[in-house]
Amino acid sequence: MRILIAEDDPISRRLLEVTLGKWGYEVMSCPDGESAWAMLQQPGAPSLAILDWMMPGMDGLQVCREVRQMMTEPYTYMLLLPAKSQKADIIAGLEAGADDYLTKPFDASELRMRLRAGRRILDLQAELIFVREELRTQATHDSLTRLLNRAATCDILQRELERAEREQLPLSIILADIDFFKRINDTYGHLAGDAVLRETSQNMKAVVRPYDGIGRYGGEEFLLVLPGCDNEGAATLAERIRESIESNPLALAEGIIPITLSLGVASNDITQNMEGLIGAADAALYRAKNNGRNRVEIAAHTDTLEDGVLTFPLSPSSG
Ligand code: GH3
Ligand code: MG
Ligand code: MG
Ligand code: MG
Repeated sequence: MRILIAEDDPISRRLLEVTLGKWGYEVMSCPDGESAWAMLQQPGAPSLAILDWMMPGMDGLQVCREVRQMMTEPYTYMLLLPAKSQKADIIAGLEAGADDYLTKPFDASELRMRLRAGRRILDLQAELIFVREELRTQATHDSLTRLLNRAATCDILQRELERAEREQLPLSIILADIDFFKRINDTYGHLAGDAVLRETSQNMKAVVRPYDGIGRYGGEEFLLVLPGCDNEGAATLAERIRESIESNPLALAEGIIPITLSLGVASNDITQNMEGLIGAADAALYRAKNNGRNRVEIAAHTDTLEDGVLTFPLSPSSG
């Protein structure tokens, strides 16, 4: 574990460096509060800091205050080193955001134990962050494909539609559905079907840009949100995805499984309404299925909702 020492007295600093090094810490050190504050703001800064209280310029107390105001993660655990005469001010130190203190001159074994306590807190905190991030991922992602789930994809689509309208920019979506997927399940088994879903997801993800949204919309259906992409651009991308999937059959112990996709494209020039847009892409997808599958179809104005009545037959997969 890396640790930062801020101590203006060169002898004490050296002593700390050597001692902490012996205990297995990777030590960074500096002679004043300004440098400590600068180092603690760097990405990947040490999460444990030993700060001398009395230093010329910015003192340890001020460093504590600045770090706490920054409120970044991961947490920085700060151990303040006041002189004996400052012991009465210790409340001020803790109020400034120090986690612990050790009055100078201190006993090495006490320092060692206090650092161990600090590490325990940092470890616990790292675990909490990990669990929290896992929960966040679980709430927004599909566990099989690791793509966004339907709700999260729709959230992105809604947000991007509003932004596109505000900024007068194009936006397109692609609804993609694996062809004869039920047959893949029936022929190769459900596990092979799952592998096809994962593989198809990864292949699609590799084709789109990093800022395009891609989610699992349903069983074997995917929704892509393409901000800044007009109808023509989306059609080209859909064709690239189609080709990429077709040319990457999945080789499993069960055999080589050919995979193809049918895709429907719709853009915000036909409607700015989310449900309407998805409905239009679904209508285009339905046409792609009817016209032989493994193909791309583009939605037209007639694919949108009119007077609340769908002007296209619902695709089998949307029921
Ligand atoms: P089409 O070309 O018309 O799209 O035909 P299809 O067989 O792909 O469509 P259909 O809607 O008839 O079948 C979809 C199948 O996807 C049925 C369902 O059991 C399967 N499925 C849905 N979710 C999963 C999953 O997570 N894993 C696996 N292995 N299969 C799934
Ligand atoms: Mg000092
Ligand atoms: Mg299908
Ligand atoms: Mg389907």
